[in-house]
Order: sequence, then C-alpha cells, then structure tokens
Amino acid sequence: MIHPIIHPLLTWYNLNKRDLPWRNTSNPYHIWLSEIILQQTRVDQGMEYYLKFVTLFPDVQSLAAAPEDLVMRTWQGLGYYSRARNLHFAAKQIVQQFDGKFPDNYNEILLLKGVGTYTAAAIASFAFNEPKAVVDGNVYRFISRYFGIKTPIDSTIGKKEFQKIADEILDKKNPGTFNQAMMEFGAMVCKPQNPFCDACIFNETCFAIKNKLVKELPIKEKKVKVGIRNLHYLLVFDINANFLIRKRDKNDIWESLYEFVLIKDDFNVVSGELNLESFHFLIKREFEPTKHILTHQHIYATFTIGLVNEFSNKVLHSFEKEPWLNANTKAFPRLISRFLEKNEVQKFIDGVTKNEI
Ligand code: SF4
Repeated sequence: MIHPIIHPLLTWYNLNKRDLPWRNTSNPYHIWLSEIILQQTRVDQGMEYYLKFVTLFPDVQSLAAAPEDLVMRTWQGLGYYSRARNLHFAAKQIVQQFDGKFPDNYNEILLLKGVGTYTAAAIASFAFNEPKAVVDGNVYRFISRYFGIKTPIDSTIGKKEFQKIADEILDKKNPGTFNQAMMEFGAMVCKPQNPFCDACIFNETCFAIKNKLVKELPIKEKKVKVGIRNLHYLLVFDINANFLIRKRDKNDIWESLYEFVLIKDDFNVVSGELNLESFHFLIKREFEPTKHILTHQHIYATFTIGLVNEFSNKVLHSFEKEPWLNANTKAFPRLISRFLEKNEVQKFIDGVTKNEI
C-alpha cells in the first residue's frame, strides 16, 4: 500500500527543494563525498568542502592516489577528522577490492570504511534507486512528531522502531527522491526549533501538533557529557623562522594532523620524551586562552611563542623543523589553524627575519 504522506511530500519537495550540487547527480562517488562531508556539518559549510573535494579529486582513483597530508589539508576546518581518514582509506578500498568501480548495492557499500547503515542507504537509494529507507536526524524528528513516537531516538529499541516505520512508508518506486524529500522536509519545515507548523502540509494529520507535543518530540535518552581539557602549545621558532611541528600518531580525533610542541597545563611535557630544558627558548609572546567547542569536549588552549638560536639534535629527533613559509601546506586541527591565522604570529616572524627580536 502506498502511504498517504508520499504524494504530498513529493509534491512539496519538487516545488521547494534546495538546488544542491549532489542532488543533480547519480554519481555514487559524488553522493558518497557529500554524505560524509555533511555528517555533523551544516549544508552551507559543507558545500565549500564538497566543491573543493570534487575539484581536487574528481574521481575515486584520484582520491585514492592522493597523499594523506593533502586529503587532511583539504579537510582542515571541518572537524571530526576520522571522516577524512576513512574517506581516504575507503577510496583505496574501492580501487583495490572493487577494481576502482564504486560498489552498486547496499550490502557492498556497507563494507566501505566509515560507511554505516545510514550512509549506505543514502548512497544505495540516491545513486542506484535501491529501496532502502534513510533515517537521519531530520527524519527521526519528522517521524517522531508526525506519528507521535515517544521512544527515545538514541536508544537501541528506538532506532529499530524508527527504521521500521521509515521502511514501511518508503516509496518503493522512487526511494531516492522520497528519502531526499523526507530529509529536506525535516531540515526546512519540521525543524528542531520553531518548525513551520502553520504552513505545514501535514498540520491536519500530525500527531504532535494535535496533541501540543511539538516541542517535546523527539525524545532523547542520553545527555551528552561535556569534558574540559586544557592544552598548552609552544610555537618555537629558530632565528631562521623555522618552527617545530609533529604529526600526531595517537589514535584520537586529531590523528594524522600536525601540532606544535604540546605541554600540559602543569608544564610537564606530555610525551615524556622531552623536557623543557631541551629548548632553552626565550618566551616572546603568550596569548590569552582560546576556547574550542567540540560535541564532547570544551578545549581551552594557550599558545606561547618562543625563540631559540637553533634546535638541538635531541629536539629534532622528536619534531620536524619546518620553514614558516610552508605552514599553510600542513593540516592542523582547527584550533591551531585559527591561531595561525592571527596576524600576531606573522608579526613575530617578520621581527625574527629582520633581526628585531
Ligand atoms: S505540523 Fe509541525 S510538527 Fe507536525 S510535521 Fe508539520 S512542521 Fe512537523
């Protein structure tokens, strides 16, 4: 049976959908890029990155062959860097395991690194019209309100229940367009805050509006616990305007990105490989702490600029010496790249090169 929301929803979508580049293609590589980029990212921010990626890496082969630093650098500023590492890994997977041809069905797409059930359903339905229902945050919200589902959307049982409803109402003839319409409707009309209920095409049949539960739905079970982390970085230059960086190899959100010398708030060296005496640096500038907000963490970072005559071998054993001129070729966490954009750092370098410091 065709669900009664299908026809009005598709009509609404055809009249109101935003013109987004990944909607005008059935190229699975482009759809995959857009889906990974848009996870936890706003469309307006994601657009710039999508266009950068398709320009620099027009096909899966070019992405697979790209140096890791270039992929990370292109991703810089988007956050959640594991997405970029997985994207790169999965591109190589496609080249090696699928002979360079993007897998064309849900089960095989699911084998790609970083691709979960949601993304696999999106690619399979948008690119190959496979009847798989996509349930993203927008769809959870719309289903919860329209059908009056009070099961928490972040519970195991809730995920199953919402998926079942989405599978039942899916337009099996046009699954790709229907999925996009559901997501777009949740994003544009049935929004998290102040949804447009007055103008909504479903306001006569929606459970939440009839029962005054729009603000209460959907329900979430868990509150995100936010941790506090203090980081202190030293940006140490020599008199030839080289500075010290290191590629993070820790298995964390900033893996494969570069950083300066990282010390803790108590001025103990984090790595344990160095102590501050190794540097004999002159502190030239200390900056006010900056705050960086992640979903699970608030990071307070301070930066200190120091100057040394030259780097000792011991220091160079653990860090790379990089000319300041090359700073913009390295991928840093957003926290650091924002700091580097400050004019103060450049002023300091100018002073060093003119021997004014
Ligand atoms: S009436 Fe309001 S709550 Fe119900 S589907 Fe429309 S926008 Fe969402």
